[in-house]
Amino acid sequence: MSQAIGQIKQTLDIVDIIGSYITIKKKGSNFTACCPFHMEKTPSFMISPDRQNFYCFGCHKHGDIFTFVQDYENLSFGEALRLLAKQAGVELENYQSKNKQHDNSEEIFKALECAQKYFQEAFNSNKGTIAKEYIISRGFTQDTIDQFGVGFAPEEWQGLIDYSKKHNIKEKALVNAGLIKIRDDGKSFDFFRNRVMFPVKNAQGKISGFGGRVLDDSEPKYLNSPETEVFVKSKLLFNFNLAKEQYREHKCFIVMEGYTDVMMAEQYKLGPTIATLGTSLTEDHVKFLKRYNVPIYLVYDGDKAGQNATERVLPYFLKYGVENKTVSLPKKMDPCDFLLQTKNWSDEWNHLIKSSSDIFTFKLNRKISESDENNLEEKVRVANEMATDLKACKDQLRKEIYLDFLSKKLDIKRKALDHQKNEPSSIKPKPKIKQYSLIKDQPYFLLAVMLYDSNFISILGEGPSLSIPNTESGSLLKKWIEQHHDTTPIAHSEFEQKLSPQERFIFSQAGIESLIPPKDKLKGFFLEQMKSLQTSDTTKKSILEQIAIAEKAGDHQKVEELMNQL
Ligand SMILES: [Zn+2]
Repeated sequence: MSQAIGQIKQTLDIVDIIGSYITIKKKGSNFTACCPFHMEKTPSFMISPDRQNFYCFGCHKHGDIFTFVQDYENLSFGEALRLLAKQAGVELENYQSKNKQHDNSEEIFKALECAQKYFQEAFNSNKGTIAKEYIISRGFTQDTIDQFGVGFAPEEWQGLIDYSKKHNIKEKALVNAGLIKIRDDGKSFDFFRNRVMFPVKNAQGKISGFGGRVLDDSEPKYLNSPETEVFVKSKLLFNFNLAKEQYREHKCFIVMEGYTDVMMAEQYKLGPTIATLGTSLTEDHVKFLKRYNVPIYLVYDGDKAGQNATERVLPYFLKYGVENKTVSLPKKMDPCDFLLQTKNWSDEWNHLIKSSSDIFTFKLNRKISESDENNLEEKVRVANEMATDLKACKDQLRKEIYLDFLSKKLDIKRKALDHQKNEPSSIKPKPKIKQYSLIKDQPYFLLAVMLYDSNFISILGEGPSLSIPNTESGSLLKKWIEQHHDTTPIAHSEFEQKLSPQERFIFSQAGIESLIPPKDKLKGFFLEQMKSLQTSDTTKKSILEQIAIAEKAGDHQKVEELMNQL
């Protein structure tokens, strides 16, 4: 496997990979960007083409192409590996996976694929006539039905179980995929029965679960797959695999409530449309969509539930500074009705987009229209509620503008709202990013050079033995050397696993250290650093020890003074 990883790394350039996701800018020999993993206005995200890695000085996220794609696309390592292998044209077939969890997910995906075949065969057989009639009566074309792979789960308790057996799918995989349930007496049965089936794919287009709709009046109207290893409702978005191909052209994402709404939007080529899976947008969704840096249009039903769903997500949009619009369809129509029944739907849609407001304004207007302006208590309640939402907003300018707007709308002095600002926010604060310290001492530079060129490790053994100080970089260097005394050298990522967060920080910093000299001067520099550790000068040793103490105590000024003495 490591051979495949090496091959992929040689083929793909980190600058191209990251540049295909976010805007990057050349700066000296490196590239910078606004970090996609934390909120920022000035770029502190650095990409080193030499070392083929990235590092963020703001949130300390770092790594190589695999780490980046994994985190950016929300993938497991195996998934990122397959994605990049495909881009690099590297065959993974020959490499046996040792990752148990990955094997498990693969089995789940296989079971889901098999179920999809079963549902589609049923849909196209006599059994599925009722489902087919229903879906056609809703206005869907055969193309849309095929595109989304609509299926039917017949009214049978063992149908899928028997079908899967014939296709060599283990019962355990069906259970893990949420496709069958096991009764107390040990007997299993199909989870979906007598429902129109809509496969839900992940961002890579793999079926991860299903939504099933009843054909009669029974409840629940929609039944989704239970949460599984690959079906995580707070993260998945229906149709995202197709929408991500369109968002650049349309410069937005459109969020709707139901699967059929999205399918109809696709049928009419409305734009990049997605839906959540029976929940409203979660914080994870908003955070994920932020990466695409386009406005999000929320098209929810005009009823109370739809409005509430819209307003519930306001704090997330404020928190991540994602531009948003609420699109209210006329006459309380749902998106399907709107598209099917509006003659010039395209003009009408453009008009709706133009006249749409952001969620904050939408919510405030609704609150005001629902309250009695002469009732002071109601005014207090609205002001409180809106100001509480604003606490999630990290962008000071945006916050100020909203507060000004709020004070005007409610005819309240700004000062009063400012007092309110100090109350706790409705979103629980995430633990602060820990600030790590870094002292660039000799061990640090030795490490930096060795990470740049691993051949230097052999030089380290030459000459008198080193007296490595007990600074943080020192202990890290010791660990690094120890590691290399062991038989086979391990991958950086594996080494990192064994480190504390602080050590990992130093290690990653050393990996992209730009203060080391160019190649031809590197050896001289390295020997110089080494030599200064070889002269077991007692004063120096004591200074280094004092540095270690001052560092622990967090006395940065003292550390700096001592460093100068060296
Ligand atoms: Zn960052």
